[in-house]
Amino acid sequence: MRTPLVMGNWKLNGTKDSVTALVNGLIEPAKAATNVQTAICPPVVFLGQVEALVGDAPIAYGAQDASVNTSGAFTGENSPVMLKEFGCTYNLVGHSERRQYHNETDAVVAAKFKAIQENQLVPVLCIGETLEENEAGKTEAVVETQLKAVIDLCGVEALENAVIAYEPVWAIGTGKSATSEQAQAIHAHIRGWLAAQSATVAEKVQILYGGSVKAATAKELFSQPDIDGALVGGASLMAEEFGAIIAAAN
Ligand code: PEP
Repeated sequence: MRTPLVMGNWKLNGTKDSVTALVNGLIEPAKAATNVQTAICPPVVFLGQVEALVGDAPIAYGAQDASVNTSGAFTGENSPVMLKEFGCTYNLVGHSERRQYHNETDAVVAAKFKAIQENQLVPVLCIGETLEENEAGKTEAVVETQLKAVIDLCGVEALENAVIAYEPVWAIGTGKSATSEQAQAIHAHIRGWLAAQSATVAEKVQILYGGSVKAATAKELFSQPDIDGALVGGASLMAEEFGAIIAAAN
């Protein structure tokens, strides 16, 4: 049995005050959901504050991106070594907004995945197709290509200590979620495709769904056999709403 993981991606949002209120508001829902791993990905400037607020509460956290380099003359970057020092467990990699606005190719994403894992952080590999690719019937081919880039560099076993987040780009921040049947179908395809390379990896890896997940849609999504939780953007900024998504996964 895979433990469900519910992870919030705060993107470029937050103030010192809102971070305090949000983390404090998540401690009780996270404690109550004893069968769920709860995690948040704040902007890196808030990591020290999040570390102090979380204390020993069952809320893991991580960054939304990381450098492939561990130190040196790389202005503006955040090293996975530094992120680890701040108590991060996870690290998003290949989010569609990084792919789209920062030109992160599959090769860059694979290199970042490797750097994250080499520094004992758990990569959360985001994959998913655009609307155009979806309408052209290319969803399966797109996610396979995205996964293959990582597997070619790191080996399929690397996914045993990673999380996959399937996020159709057309559903992110649009309010248009995939139906639970649509999401289950592609999750099952991903797991089957992985199983052809390693049954152990396919059985173990958590595959999260992401794309406009709300409390109202969470339960139905989580009832699907191959959906192991969610990566949540907008709804993770509201403690009550995100708390209800965590409760739905429990
Ligand atoms: C995301 O940022 O990964 C995401 C899924 O966002 P939203 O829930 O707002 O669609």
